[in-house]
Amino acid sequence: MNQSDLETLWKFVRGDLAAPDFEAWLYAHKELDAALGNALYLELISANYRHHEDVFDIREKLRTSLQTPLKCECLPLSDLAVIPMGCDGLDQRFFASVEEVHACGPDLWWLHLSRCKVCGQNWMIAQEERIYDDYMLKRLTTEEARQIVENGKWPDDFLTYEKVLKVGQALSKACRFLDTMSFSLIDTIQDLKRSRPDITNAEMAALLGITIEHVNALAKVS
Ligand SMILES: [Zn+2]
Repeated sequence: MNQSDLETLWKFVRGDLAAPDFEAWLYAHKELDAALGNALYLELISANYRHHEDVFDIREKLRTSLQTPLKCECLPLSDLAVIPMGCDGLDQRFFASVEEVHACGPDLWWLHLSRCKVCGQNWMIAQEERIYDDYMLKRLTTEEARQIVENGKWPDDFLTYEKVLKVGQALSKACRFLDTMSFSLIDTIQDLKRSRPDITNAEMAALLGITIEHVNALAKVS
């Protein structure tokens, strides 16, 4: 199977390509019969792509079939993804092939550009180790990566700590703090306020996964 077909199949599996668009693409690529095997190919072309359960089943069957020959973790990850630090070892497997190629600098200390030495995929990565303990990832095109390295022009998804936390809020779960006055919380509130002075305590509470009363108490000491 060629790399372009493999990328499109994974794009559908991870949910970055809608079912109707995948169906149209599938009918235009009858050579997949040989690459995927006749049984799986028949299932793919006979599925009802307007039926949620069929689409779920097909995605899982394809995931199982495509997983085995992978030499890196890039293709199964969504275009915007979150990898927990530690947890199930996905971070170790991911960073076994993905290396930092460019850091944004001390002002945006969480942000860097990395590249997979196996498949060449570029990733913009925000390292968030205060509130969510996650790596936030965005898949970048070669051109987007070039703009970063040559012109210092970063896509705006992780350009403020508030944006980074919003990704965590949408895709992950905030840590629970045994120390309710933890410096991780206090420093984050200070950074959020500095970056956008009119941010409300309710907004910060939602981003940090804590109550407004807790934010009020942290704001008093910060
Ligand atoms: Zn890769």
